[in-house]
Amino acid sequence: MMAEEGKSRVALVTGGSRGIGRAVAELLAAQGHQVAINYVSNEEAANEAVASIEAAGGAAIAIKADVGDEDAVAAMMTQVQEQLGPVEILVNNAGITRDDLLMRMKPDAWDTVMQTNLKSVYLCSKAALRGMLRARWGRIINVSSIAGVAGNAGQANYAAAKAGVIGFTMSLAKEIGSRGITVNAVAPGFIETDMTAALGNDAAAAAADQITLGRLGRPEEVASAVGYLASAEASYITGQTIVVDGGLAI
Ligand code: NAP
Repeated sequence: MMAEEGKSRVALVTGGSRGIGRAVAELLAAQGHQVAINYVSNEEAANEAVASIEAAGGAAIAIKADVGDEDAVAAMMTQVQEQLGPVEILVNNAGITRDDLLMRMKPDAWDTVMQTNLKSVYLCSKAALRGMLRARWGRIINVSSIAGVAGNAGQANYAAAKAGVIGFTMSLAKEIGSRGITVNAVAPGFIETDMTAALGNDAAAAAADQITLGRLGRPEEVASAVGYLASAEASYITGQTIVVDGGLAI
């Protein structure tokens, strides 16, 4: 399916090299957009994602940048602008976990999670917004988490950052709604990626027991919600958070 009456847009997916971000990048490319895939350290995975999109007939580039670092984000935006044009669809997906019970949580685990999961959303949105305001069109889609909606023991830092993303989403939506730019979020539940593989099979089986649909989700099942929010069909939706959790939190 081509995007917005055949219009090819420039999309930036942070953390687009693996997991949910990669599935989002592949879907946006399949919808006809040119996709910049951001990553921070795993160059091989980023190149693999670009190659897979190109093999399917799409267009993509890989850009290394730490999304929690202001200078790195500015350099990334310049690179996207020079190679593809101004960012029209921004997917703030990059994220990490540093889980611990609060009484054991070190300040560094708090700060790193805030910087990568929340400050990054502020930095990337602000940097991309200038071009969107000029074009009077834009889509910002933030990847939150069910932990930011319902909380999760052992993830006070992560849940606080992800709840922050939802507050940010609603606030920015109100600020720029009159400029043709929508800002929405998706809140995934337990999705099969490297992030959750690190928890082990027992944790995955225990999680599946709590999920209404009885299984973990696939990255593509989150990507389809992001693809919808980026599409012309979602033109009257802003400030919302779509929960994609297989009924985990109901
Ligand atoms: P993942 O498989 O661990 O992939 C993380 C991606 O983010 C990689 O591309 C990684 O790049 C990139 N990244 C990490 N730190 C970065 C930084 N400082 N700057 C730029 N890129 C960075 O993660 P995932 O499971 O797909 O999660 C994607 C998003 O969904 C995250 O925001 C996560 O919190 C959220 N989420 C995931 C789940 C789940 O169950 N998996 C549930 C709810 C929400 P490198 O390859 O270079 O490291």
